[in-house]
Amino acid sequence: MILILKPNIDTESREFRRIEEHLKNFPNIETRVHRVQGAAQVLTEVYLIGNTAALALEEMKSFPGVEHAVRVSEEYRVLGRHKDDNRPNHFHYNGVRFSQDNLHIFAGLCAVDSPKSVEEMMRALRENRQVCTRMGAYKPRTSPYSFQGHGKNCLPFVFELAGKYGIKVIAMEITHESHIDEIREALAKTGNPTGVMLQIGTRNTQNFELLKSVGRQQEFPVLLKRGFGITLDESLHAAEYLASEGNQKVIFALRGMKTNIGDPHRNIVDFAHIPVVKRLTRMPVCCDPSHSVGSRGRSSDNVLDIMHVTAQAVIAGANMILVDFHPDPSVALVDGPQALRMNELSKFLEDVAIVREAYEKRVALYKE
Ligand code: PEP
Ligand code: MN
Repeated sequence: MILILKPNIDTESREFRRIEEHLKNFPNIETRVHRVQGAAQVLTEVYLIGNTAALALEEMKSFPGVEHAVRVSEEYRVLGRHKDDNRPNHFHYNGVRFSQDNLHIFAGLCAVDSPKSVEEMMRALRENRQVCTRMGAYKPRTSPYSFQGHGKNCLPFVFELAGKYGIKVIAMEITHESHIDEIREALAKTGNPTGVMLQIGTRNTQNFELLKSVGRQQEFPVLLKRGFGITLDESLHAAEYLASEGNQKVIFALRGMKTNIGDPHRNIVDFAHIPVVKRLTRMPVCCDPSHSVGSRGRSSDNVLDIMHVTAQAVIAGANMILVDFHPDPSVALVDGPQALRMNELSKFLEDVAIVREAYEKRVALYKE
């Protein structure tokens, strides 16, 4: 059961102590308190874990400090949707609203290679009125001999350039908890010119200790990629690890599943799960067409497979698109073959706008 306390009520209040007193009658019930930062206020949510069937929902709702109580009816306690659950399906970060109802494009470099590439990328983003990007500094690579990313050394120039070009949120993969501190320090040293969304890559979806570390901080939102060889349920539980530690600002990313059945694409596209994730949980859903398709294949209609797959995501209600671009893919140090070029950005965005409009018309069609 989840108790959502009234906005001015916290765990120090007399009202909360009354609830605690009542719960002492139920020794098999444990409480976990989450402080959830909304746009205007901080809300306290109390998760009751254990034999909560013994609690009467109406009685819990009637406590003076309780705004709303929800009986957990489904899996994914924190991020899931439950019966009569009116908790939000959105969050704000650095002035940007992430929601199951809107859409953001994160076009950027798979891996940061040089200040020049970063600047060219960010200049193109500003010209196209974009405030989000992706920039890989810590790269998990199949071979230990491949370029591993510039790590913390590139953070100062990436953040400074982001500030210069008005970028508000950078999706950046981390592979170790120490990277959180490196990012926090580099942001502070450069005067916090931008924001970072910590990305957990598909190879780390079930790195539970990393998930717990990322979940314990609430400063940065998290982009969790679906594990490429596990079930959707297992990946959604991974997201729940983040939330159960206190961070509910989580976006769930589909990026294709590893199987040769997807050939000649790098992975088999799994964007049919967008509505499933939106139905089961309150997380906005991201799709990564670049790592799904993995190449610049193009069909007889002259449209890149990456564009077609992006359209499939957007028309099904995706809330974020994470896509690789590079000013000169032939010299990119990671994933050059799947990178789009700067002069393809405006058409990419135009294509997305066409499809988003079609998605909105489709939703209107089914509204009673
Ligand atoms: C990436 O986005 O750069 C990446 C490595 O993705 P994934 O974890 O989905 O392979
Ligand atoms: Mn990549």
